[in-house]
Amino acid sequence: MFDSGLYVFLLRLKTATDLGVGALGEHFFPAGWYLYTGSAKKNLHKRVERHWSLKPARRWHFDYLSTALDSEPVGAVVVPGGAGLTECELNRQVGRLVGNQVPVPGFGASDCRAGCPAHLYFSAAPVSLLSLARLHEQAGVLMPGADFWEPDLHQLQDADR
Ligand SMILES: [Zn+2]
Repeated sequence: MFDSGLYVFLLRLKTATDLGVGALGEHFFPAGWYLYTGSAKKNLHKRVERHWSLKPARRWHFDYLSTALDSEPVGAVVVPGGAGLTECELNRQVGRLVGNQVPVPGFGASDCRAGCPAHLYFSAAPVSLLSLARLHEQAGVLMPGADFWEPDLHQLQDADR
């Protein structure tokens, strides 16, 4: 798998909960699916894996959500660096895909210079990794305990018809 690039992490929160998110303070998180877009200049796989391993140290906003009691990691879609897509462009594509619901303004967007409302979106309706993988033709899929997978999206789309 490529070492640098972008990722969209998909997490399911099974029960609505109030969570403190560092400097952003306490926020209400409805039950549903959360989509967090980030990037890594190196060790992309490790960065993604961090989000499904339980870690006491909370460094990024997303760590507060991924360590919530009733959260469950689904997996991540990854796009190689240099694929002609910026983190913020991918983030906005994800937002459009799920209806642009921003649960916490500024979440994950501390380093954002493109004016994204947040790098976290919410969907009350189920979201699948494959629907996210269709956002980019070079996308691959990472899931806990599974090998890196590069789905043949053209084949999958043909199967839909
Ligand atoms: Zn951004």
